[in-house]
Amino acid sequence: MVRSLSQMWETGLLSQTSRGATRAARFTSEPGIQAPLLLCPTCADALIYRHTMFSGVRPLERWDYFTCVTHGRFEYRERTHRLRPTDL
Ligand SMILES: [Zn+2]
Repeated sequence: MVRSLSQMWETGLLSQTSRGATRAARFTSEPGIQAPLLLCPTCADALIYRHTMFSGVRPLERWDYFTCVTHGRFEYRERTHRLRPTDL
């Protein structure tokens, strides 16, 4: 069930991309590969996973978005393994 929802998402993206967009960002809360478990860099509480964004064409980059209840929102860039605060 989860997998088929995710596939529908991707199908929708593909039809958008084929209309000429050279760079597409897409959000999903059900990425094919589960987001990592991360700790808040300030208080070391477990961060709450929110969603994942895929962006770019080649290479396709991935960001995972998290929230600390106390310290706000963070993004984790998979390619660089960097966690940093974000407004998104
Ligand atoms: Zn925190």
